[in-house]
Amino acid sequence: MRVRFPDFRLGSVLATSFTGTLSERHGDAVERIPVPHRLVDWLAVNGLAVDSCTTAQLHLARELRESIHAAATAAAIQDALPASAVQVINDCSAQGRAAAILTPEGKRQWRLSSASCVEDALSVIAADAISIIAGERDGKLALCASPTCQAAFFDTSQSRSRKWCDMNTCGNRQKKARFNANQRNKPRSAE
Ligand SMILES: [Zn+2]
Repeated sequence: MRVRFPDFRLGSVLATSFTGTLSERHGDAVERIPVPHRLVDWLAVNGLAVDSCTTAQLHLARELRESIHAAATAAAIQDALPASAVQVINDCSAQGRAAAILTPEGKRQWRLSSASCVEDALSVIAADAISIIAGERDGKLALCASPTCQAAFFDTSQSRSRKWCDMNTCGNRQKKARFNANQRNKPRSAE
């Protein structure tokens, strides 16, 4: 497994952005939150700022992430939800004390019970996962068409025909691969 520091994929759906912190799950997997402070960074860019994170909290976060991945994948292929994954998601959801706050500008923000409470942040992510897996939101869970990725993503396109978890990574790579294959198959022009 490679460990890469900088880039996070920022999707519009919190739960699947979170599962995307382990990318290329069926290829050369890339762990984007290898150490606690990287989880702190990820939470900050996703509106869930915490001061610090312990190794135990990172483990809990990864456990939640893999549980969301398993449950969302099952939901995408209309399989039974794995009971252990459901348990972890529910425990994380119940453990947190985050409050939704409406800003004067009419935006929703999350207020955590304390700045050290990674569990509060995880409860927001777990609740987000529950809302998409339970079909509460407008969209459909699907699996990325890239064979090395197969990430579960939430398709909110009008036609529900999105193929890739992320256009900038998987989508582009597939397009390039197709382009290169086409170039190879083209007869050379006479010189
Ligand atoms: Zn993908």
